[in-house]
Amino acid sequence: MYIDGHFIGADDRDGEPVYNPANGQVVGQLPHAMPEDLDAAIAAADRAFQTWRWTSPLERSRILRSVAGMIRDRVEDIAYSLTMDQGKPLTEARMEVMGAADHAEWHAEECRRIYGRVIPPRDPSVRQTVIRQPVGVCASFSPWNYPLNQALRKICAALGSGCTIILKASEDAPSAVVALAQMFHDAGLPAGCLNVVWGVPAQISEHLIKSPNVRKISFTGSIPVGKHLAAMAGAHMKRVTMELGGHSPVLVFDDADIDKAATLLAGYKGLNAGQVCMSPSRFYVHESVAEEFGEKFSKAFGTRVVGDGMDSATTMGPLAHNRRVSAMTEFVSDATAKGASILTGGKAMSGPGNFFPPTVLMNTPDTANIMREEPFGPVAPITTFSDVDEVLSRANALPFGLASYVFTQSLRTSHYVASRLEAGMVNVNHFGIALPETPLGGVKDSGMGSEGGSETFDAYLATKFISETTA
Ligand code: NAD
Repeated sequence: MYIDGHFIGADDRDGEPVYNPANGQVVGQLPHAMPEDLDAAIAAADRAFQTWRWTSPLERSRILRSVAGMIRDRVEDIAYSLTMDQGKPLTEARMEVMGAADHAEWHAEECRRIYGRVIPPRDPSVRQTVIRQPVGVCASFSPWNYPLNQALRKICAALGSGCTIILKASEDAPSAVVALAQMFHDAGLPAGCLNVVWGVPAQISEHLIKSPNVRKISFTGSIPVGKHLAAMAGAHMKRVTMELGGHSPVLVFDDADIDKAATLLAGYKGLNAGQVCMSPSRFYVHESVAEEFGEKFSKAFGTRVVGDGMDSATTMGPLAHNRRVSAMTEFVSDATAKGASILTGGKAMSGPGNFFPPTVLMNTPDTANIMREEPFGPVAPITTFSDVDEVLSRANALPFGLASYVFTQSLRTSHYVASRLEAGMVNVNHFGIALPETPLGGVKDSGMGSEGGSETFDAYLATKFISETTA
């Protein structure tokens, strides 16, 4: 843990082992925060806020930029540990690390541009200004699928806006977050501005959210947990940013470039073994091109090499947890019982590690569980459609609204569906999501608020109106 500028080991605290998902071996031991540790973190963050809030944006920017440089310098070490406790192939781990450096750098630039405004007064002796001030101590909860990137976004948004932060990242993949705390420490971030704790998630979130000193909550993870935390935050009138699950529809129209769509989608679906909230996960393909698409997509996706992320031949790693393997098995057996056929994959792989192969299901009925529940794994269900309004209503029928993908050569179709899809993000004919300079967020049950883009600081700033007169 990292509290008030000090790294804290297990000592006599409870803790839990950290596993390598590729072979089930224990790679470390994580301490659990005691209530006194959480109180110490809250007190440190509150104390640090009194100074950090008035620290020049230039200095905040300098620290974030310095961390960006360190992330790049330490890429090999961080990526190695990330593959060891999270499982993704080393090349993907490096991509995550380099992406995190870009996020830190972008926040370093953008935090110097937190502006207010002047409102023309009715009376010339009056001056009306609007300023934006940091809300205070933030409690943030980040997940295991992109442990470095997701934690870094929350830390940079909080620190860049002048807030301080207590982060509880996922106990399943902690190494990258510990490395992050070390880099902020090495960059000279004042003690208490960033605190990292681990433990029993429900106990930590309840303790932090109920504290009157904590003013903002940010969570990335599953919808049920997000709703629970948002309700608790609401009871204490605290701001929330929620980046929750999705079930991203893919609409492949009859005029699409099928080769391009199949190749791009196979690449994107395989990222992090499908454990991505924005992963393409419901494939609606026009009936006249469905067979061709199914064949090409399953050929490209099915040939991913599944194995230990440390092996350079591996192009898809294990699932982070064995509970995800059981979930995939259940999705496939439910879908096939309801009429879907398996084009590739379909069965959990034997041996140690949480491996499930790339799997494609054809003619999957809308009643199959996988068409209604987020798979969060390497299973891709395909169904067909015949009409644009029909597919829009099926795509919009679920309570999710995070990402969506469209493949068409028609500007008319693109414009029509992009403006009607109920989603926080729409990509047409390519993938361009989660860049530091673009907003990431969902609608409906997929959450509220944005991370990234010029919106990134909004949830961390309170608006204050000041009216002064010289009369
Ligand atoms: P889960 O619901 O058990 O846990 C999700 C996350 O929430 C974990 O990081 C966990 O540590 C944390 N958590 C659980 N209870 C908590 C509490 N009371 N307070 C604070 N944090 C709490 O799900 P899982 O099996 O670990 O992951 C699968 C699901 O998680 C997927 O269906 C997906 O929707 C979601 N997920 C989403 C993202 C994302 O980027 N939006 C990332 C990871 C997981």
